[in-house]
Amino acid sequence: MTPGEVSVRCCIAGGGPAGMMLGLLLARTGVAVLVLEKHADFLRDFRGDTIHPSTLEIMYELGLLGEFLEQPHQEVRTLGAQIGDDFVRVADFSHLPTHCRFIALMPQWDFLNFIAGQAKRYPAFQLRMEADVTALIEEGGRVAGARAETPEGGLTVHADLVVGADGRHSTVRASAGLETIDLGAPMDVLWMRLSRRCCASAMPPMPCPRSAGSASISQFRMPSPRPTSWRRVFCEARSPMATFKPFSAGGNCPPGRCRRYRSSCRNG
Ligand SMILES: Cc1cc2nc3c(=O)[nH]c(=O)nc-3n(C[C@H](O)[C@H](O)[C@H](O)COP(=O)(O)OP(=O)(O)OC[C@H]3O[C@@H](n4cnc5c(N)ncnc54)[C@H](O)[C@@H]3O)c2cc1C
Repeated sequence: MTPGEVSVRCCIAGGGPAGMMLGLLLARTGVAVLVLEKHADFLRDFRGDTIHPSTLEIMYELGLLGEFLEQPHQEVRTLGAQIGDDFVRVADFSHLPTHCRFIALMPQWDFLNFIAGQAKRYPAFQLRMEADVTALIEEGGRVAGARAETPEGGLTVHADLVVGADGRHSTVRASAGLETIDLGAPMDVLWMRLSRRCCASAMPPMPCPRSAGSASISQFRMPSPRPTSWRRVFCEARSPMATFKPFSAGGNCPPGRCRRYRSSCRNG
């Protein structure tokens, strides 16, 4: 075995929720596992923050719930939506047969850092950040490992099992020649942050944009666990997102953006 080579029972490509949770579960049972994550951290700011009651129940079953809920989070027990001019309550979690009858709001990177911290308590667990899986190794007609690029150079991982948890553009899936099944998506979700610098005191009211594809769009006002921004989500039955022109998603909203957005919506 050369310095750029390791051998494990299981190699997981991708340190997202799937890869990190699988790594934790395998390491708990004593399976030597190596998770390869191409990024240097878990910061995926465009991702949502909701940890659902079913996920919290898994944390309970793993004996991690108490510690998990000590992490900074908010608890959402009901959800509402603005549909046209009406505000309706669309979800009430208080009747669920789970230990947590709420959605916990926590940035995904906090969730992943927590899972990583728990997994690292097990000697069977290894996590390599900045390890970009580039190909599978095949020997004797079977997958026998993976190759990755790291800042230190190439890494060859020999493994009995390679798991592709590397997201929607999976390198592992492509290397294995596996085809995707497109299940379609029933709706488009437009997800944005509004800076609290320009909307300091409260979530600003915002008219629902009209699109060519539908008469109205559901609008969710989500609390955000981040101190610097509000969160707003527009959902609509699938139609071309190109019809949403008044604003750009992502990034901090510069001062004045909200006013420009509202005025262009009224005009549009
Ligand atoms: C805008 C948005 C909002 C969302 N909001 C929520 C929410 O509020 N609540 C919720 O539960 N879910 C939410 N989701 C869904 C949730 O983010 C996904 O279901 C979840 O992240 C999928 O986890 P995963 O581990 O399968 O894949 P991913 O999270 O995509 O993780 C894949 C990981 O693999 C890494 N990777 C990719 N290629 C390689 C490679 N070649 N080598 C090594 N590593 C690689 C990536 O860097 C990434 O860390 C949201 C998704 C989006 C896009």
